[in-house]
Amino acid sequence: MTAASTGSGSIVGRGAVEAARLTRAWFADLAAGAERGEPAAYVFVMGSMAEILRAFDIHMVFPEINSLQTAVRRVADKYLGAAEDYGYSPDICGYVKADVGVQLGGGEHPMGRIPKPSIAVQTNACNTYLKWSEIWERMYHTPIVTIDVPGSRSAAHVGRAAAEDFERDRRYVEHQLRELIARCEELTGRRFDVDRLREVMRHTNEMSVSWKRVLELNRARPAVFNAVIDGTMYLGVVNALRGTAEGAAFFRDLVEELEFKVAHGIGALEDERYRLLFVGVPCYPIFRRFHEMFADRGGVFVSSSYLWFAAGGADLGLEYDLARPIESLAENVLLGVRHAMDAMLFQDPALIRAVDEFEADGLVYHPVKSCRTVSTGLAGSRRAVMQARDVMCLFIESDMMDKRVVSEAQLKNRVDAFFEGLESRRARVGTPVAEGSVT
Ligand code: SF4
Repeated sequence: MTAASTGSGSIVGRGAVEAARLTRAWFADLAAGAERGEPAAYVFVMGSMAEILRAFDIHMVFPEINSLQTAVRRVADKYLGAAEDYGYSPDICGYVKADVGVQLGGGEHPMGRIPKPSIAVQTNACNTYLKWSEIWERMYHTPIVTIDVPGSRSAAHVGRAAAEDFERDRRYVEHQLRELIARCEELTGRRFDVDRLREVMRHTNEMSVSWKRVLELNRARPAVFNAVIDGTMYLGVVNALRGTAEGAAFFRDLVEELEFKVAHGIGALEDERYRLLFVGVPCYPIFRRFHEMFADRGGVFVSSSYLWFAAGGADLGLEYDLARPIESLAENVLLGVRHAMDAMLFQDPALIRAVDEFEADGLVYHPVKSCRTVSTGLAGSRRAVMQARDVMCLFIESDMMDKRVVSEAQLKNRVDAFFEGLESRRARVGTPVAEGSVT
C-alpha cells in the first residue's frame, strides 16, 4: 500500500523533512552563537551530558556529527587530506582527522561555521575521545572535563546486573557530575538552577520514551523505516536536540507517523523481502548507494547496533526521577553510557535478542578501517550469533569516512552473493510471515 492510496500525504515522510530542517537550524544556531561569542562545549554522542550543559544554555558541538556530515556531503577527503598533510596518520579515527581539518580551516564546514570549544566534555566510552580532546587542548588551551563511567564487569554482568557495585558506581558518577556543574558555573558566571535542570530532564524523558517506541515500531512487517538511512537521520536529532522541547516534539510526531505507517502497512520498501540487522558504523562516503545495494534486492535494515551505542542510552527509554534530579541523572548516565559501551563490547546477546524480536533473516557486519573501537571483535560476534541462531551473516569491510578504502564494486559483489545465499536458503526453509502482519 502506498502513501497516496491511503491519503496520507501530510504525515508520511514528515519526520524526514523535519529532521533535515532541525539539523540545518541547529548548525545555523551554532554559527550564530559563534558570532555572538557564546560558549560552546565540544561533546560526544556516547555521554554528551546534554542535560547539565543545556541547564547553563551552553551550545553543544558534536565533532563526530560534524565529521560524518563531511563524508555524507562527499567532501571528507578535503578535511582528511588537510589533517594528513599536517601529520596525522591515515590509520587513526577518520572522525578525528576530519575534525582536525575543520579546525585547521578556522571552523569552516559545509553546514556552517563551527565555533571553537570553550570546554570539552567527554566520557571514557571510547579511548579516542581522550586523545581527541587533547588536540583541542593543544590548539586552544580548552579545559577538559572527563566523566569516567565504570563499564560492565563482564558479558555476564551487563547493565544493572552487578547490583552490589551499582550504587558505588552511581555515587562515583554523581560526584563527577557535581564537578562538571561547578566548571559550568565558572565558565558562564551563572549559578546552577536545579529547576532549569528539571525542565531539560523532562524534555529528555519525553524524547527517550518516544525513541524507544520508534525502535520498537520497526518490528512491524513491513518495517516502517530503514534503520541505516532514516535511523541515522533520527539519531542526529536524538543527540543534537536532547533535552529540548523541539526534540521531544519531533519524536512525539515521529511516533505518530510510524504508528500510522504500521496501521496502514506502509513499509520503508514497497517490496520487503529480507529483514536485516546492521552492525557497526555506516558507510558514509557512499551512504545512499550502500543502502540501495540492499534495498534494490528487497533488503531492509530493521535495526542497527549504531542506533543503540550512538544514542547515549536513549534507546533504553530511561526516565529521570525529577524529584531527585542529580542523583537520577547520575544513575542514567551510568546506565546509558554503560549500555553504549556494552552495545560495542558485549553486543552478542543484544544482537541475538534483536534477531528474535525483529524476525531478522540476516546480519550485515560492517567493520571499518578508521574506527577500531566499534570494529574490533565483530568477527567473534558473528561466530557467536551464527552459533545461537540460524541466520546468514555478511561481513564487509570498508570505512565510515575515507572513500579511498571503499570499493563500491567489491562491496556490490559481496552483497549480491549474500542475497543469492538468502534466496537459496529461503527456497529451502520457506517464506516469511505474510506482509501486513504487525508484531
Ligand atoms: S574511534 Fe570510533 S567510537 Fe571512537 S571516536 Fe572514532 S569513530 Fe567514535
